[in-house]
Amino acid sequence: MDFPFAKRIRELPPYLFAEIDRLKEEQIKKGKKVIDLGVGDPDIPTPPSIVSALQRAAEKKENHRYPSYVGMLKFREAAAEWYRKRFGVTLDPEREVITLIGSKEGIAHLPWAFIDEGDIALVPDPAYPVYGIATKFAGGEVYKMPLKWENGFLPDVESIPEDVLKRAKLMFLNYPNNPTTAEATEEFYRKVVDVASRYSILVVSDAPYTEIYYDESKKPLSILQIDGAKDVAIEFHSLSKTYNMTGWRIGFAVGNESAVKGLGKIKTNVDSGVFQAIQEAGIEALTGDQSYVEKNREIYRKRREIFIKGLEKLGLDYMKSNSTFYLWIKVPDGYSSSDFAKKLLEDAAIVVTPGVGFGEYGEGYFRVSLTQDTDLLEEAVERMLKLNL
Ligand SMILES: *Cc1c(COP(=O)(O)O)cnc(C)c1O
Repeated sequence: MDFPFAKRIRELPPYLFAEIDRLKEEQIKKGKKVIDLGVGDPDIPTPPSIVSALQRAAEKKENHRYPSYVGMLKFREAAAEWYRKRFGVTLDPEREVITLIGSKEGIAHLPWAFIDEGDIALVPDPAYPVYGIATKFAGGEVYKMPLKWENGFLPDVESIPEDVLKRAKLMFLNYPNNPTTAEATEEFYRKVVDVASRYSILVVSDAPYTEIYYDESKKPLSILQIDGAKDVAIEFHSLSKTYNMTGWRIGFAVGNESAVKGLGKIKTNVDSGVFQAIQEAGIEALTGDQSYVEKNREIYRKRREIFIKGLEKLGLDYMKSNSTFYLWIKVPDGYSSSDFAKKLLEDAAIVVTPGVGFGEYGEGYFRVSLTQDTDLLEEAVERMLKLNL
């Protein structure tokens, strides 16, 4: 039998990367050495001390049983302490922190707790697709906030119509930003907190890239550093990108107590928490030797320099930013982002992500992920130079 999908699945936008995947397979079949700069998944392994912590924790039989829904108190304490050290933000580990099966899990479940049929979520475009899709799954409507080059890829929250703000329950933000690499300024976050307070909107700050920065003197902010932010914001943090732990599935959310509580209510009815051994490894990540994180940054710094030099030779303009392991690059004149991504794949066997895959306002750009080693990045640049763009 062929069971018809529910409307919420039928209405999903077409998978824009399917064509790229198909072309990639074609190139591989032809025997081409494909350089994949598409996926945002660190190629560097998890630090060994974290792996050892998991091995030890996996032996403990108390970890073999159901974990607590909201996470071990020890993990939540470690997350709160990490926030205090990194951002100077004080959090109550019992009420203002929740453990997640990766931050994506929490982001996808949050709208179920706060969106009723017909409510609006303010969603940036281009963006990580989960914000809009999770909103629609919960029966909500998406109001797009365009991210534009001329605004430093920050949404113009003051231009959102009053009637939209009145119906809005959530505002999704993601800084340092994937895919545009943009960073939030303090002034921008102040404006956001002000608007959110006036219209009772819960700000959902997705912040997995705060530790991937290049200039020590300009570390990315947490929205919770802004006065009054805890009254209106929840922030999602992840161990995935900071500690190269994408496969482990562990993250956490912090901030507004009722937001954390609402998310917890959904989770008690959906999942049963994170394997405690992974939480113990997470504690090691958050509280142990942090020199790995600096080494990571050093690796990305070198890769980024190589690619930026290439872009300058190619004459391609890109977003100048201090963070994330991506580059957000303007496509050459005369191409759409999809056409250009196809050309790179067919003529140079390089996979990049067309900006339009992140939303209509991503048109005109492509994203390169620096999750390949320097020799491959150098080769990618060489191949691009040969195309005479
Ligand atoms: C990687 C990523 C996440 C999710 O990370 P998890 O592995 O689920 O913790 C969330 N948001 C953005 C923008 C990301 O790039």
